[in-house]
Amino acid sequence: MARRSRSADIVVIGAGSATTSLVNALDGTPSVVVFEPSLVGGDCPYDACIPSKALLHDGALGRAWSTASSRRRALIDHRDDTRHAESLLDAGDVELVRERAAFAGPGRVVSESLTVEADHIVVATGATAVVPDLDGLDDLADPVWTDRVWTSADALRAAEAPERLLIAGGGVVGCEFARLFASFGTEVVLLEPNEHLVETSHPDVIAAVEQTVRDTGTDLELGTRPVAVSPHGTGVALSTDDRREFRADRLLLAVGRRPQLDDLHLEHVGLDPESPLPVDDSGRVRCEGSVWAIGDVVGRSQYTHAANHHGRVVADHLTGSGTRRFDDVVDAACMFTLPPMMTVGPSHAETVDDGDVVWVAVGVADSSARAATDEQDGALALAASRSTGRLVAAHGIGPSFDELVHAIIVAIDGEVPVARLVRSMYPFPTMGDVFASALSKLLSELPDASSSA
Ligand SMILES: Cc1cc2nc3c(=O)[nH]c(=O)nc-3n(C[C@H](O)[C@H](O)[C@H](O)COP(=O)(O)OP(=O)(O)OC[C@H]3O[C@@H](n4cnc5c(N)ncnc54)[C@H](O)[C@@H]3O)c2cc1C
Repeated sequence: MARRSRSADIVVIGAGSATTSLVNALDGTPSVVVFEPSLVGGDCPYDACIPSKALLHDGALGRAWSTASSRRRALIDHRDDTRHAESLLDAGDVELVRERAAFAGPGRVVSESLTVEADHIVVATGATAVVPDLDGLDDLADPVWTDRVWTSADALRAAEAPERLLIAGGGVVGCEFARLFASFGTEVVLLEPNEHLVETSHPDVIAAVEQTVRDTGTDLELGTRPVAVSPHGTGVALSTDDRREFRADRLLLAVGRRPQLDDLHLEHVGLDPESPLPVDDSGRVRCEGSVWAIGDVVGRSQYTHAANHHGRVVADHLTGSGTRRFDDVVDAACMFTLPPMMTVGPSHAETVDDGDVVWVAVGVADSSARAATDEQDGALALAASRSTGRLVAAHGIGPSFDELVHAIIVAIDGEVPVARLVRSMYPFPTMGDVFASALSKLLSELPDASSSA
């Protein structure tokens, strides 16, 4: 096929959440070429956030896997991306090329059928599941592992919930999938090499998260590192560093997601293809030409809301004021355990030695009537700056904390003093009582707190 050539103001490689956000936030004037060989919309709608949250919902309601699976398929439009593609094209002067792309030089990108010369190139290629270094698992694509070793995307598409599931890795994906499969009756063993889950969090929150995971019936094996895997019957046998062997129908790999940089030919813009992209807080990649990066490929906060934020920041640099930064809003995330966990701002571990930062924690059951009515527990830890009297971080797990998180984000981004927050009226009985209780405790630790409101 003869390769066509064209020029454009902006080329974007990959069409996931970050790209949708970027293209919508451009002022509509630049010409944009977007390359995407797979589904427009990327992971979130088809293989990650949406299907996982739908299955978590159905599991909590006690629905059967087959019912939940058909609702999942309908919710992801049976993997038809027409809606996402049309919305991308409607956003401005956009050409969508359904092919994989790579750098051919500074300002030049090629795919099978097209060469584009562009002023700016945005890398938005997402992330891919890390395959851990396990003896016996040389190549995940080997047919022997099909239907034995899963990535999260495989697990979400499973024809049925396994009787017994091993999960390697106790991060967000590992903890959410433990809850998900346990709710469909699967016997789950979660193996985490660290001594604790969410280990950079406040100690009270760590304890509450571990209790939450165990409450689902999950066998939580902390300080346990898988070292080898072999086929066993139609399932797997997994050996660990403490010389134990676990057997199950499936092994889910949940040990992290690495930036997707394969085959981008980054050497053509002076970068080492084996190293992370050198991205600054405006999204600019330090290399030859005007190259930017957004979303999971940046390798920082790998969440859809972060990808969307990156898209808006880079759009601001390409067609706006050029003042926005990745870190001009507080970082926040949720983990959809039951009850959910939320984190806002820096971790306890990052700030515990900072003399300006003070942390307090309260138990959910101790500080909320709603916890008693709903038979719930958890913990909320808040941190404030002694010098400014403002909130700087919050980590917690408790009922509806995936919604309480917004009040905390607004309080931190709005720089509202703790002394002012304690004067607000929080509806009863809600998790506002927990927030109010933690705020009062925090205020008592702050110098001259009452005068700073
Ligand atoms: C199981 C799971 C559950 C999750 N749940 C949540 C959640 O509840 N909330 C949340 O905020 N986040 C969640 N996430 C994270 C979220 O899915 C990602 O942060 C988000 O999808 C990242 O978007 P992106 O645009 O950076 O990348 P992607 O959506 O991965 O898009 C990248 C696109 O680039 C394309 N591409 C790659 N290489 C090339 C190339 N060479 N040429 C052209 N195109 C290319 C890919 O095909 C892909 O479509 C979850 C993740 C997982 C795995």
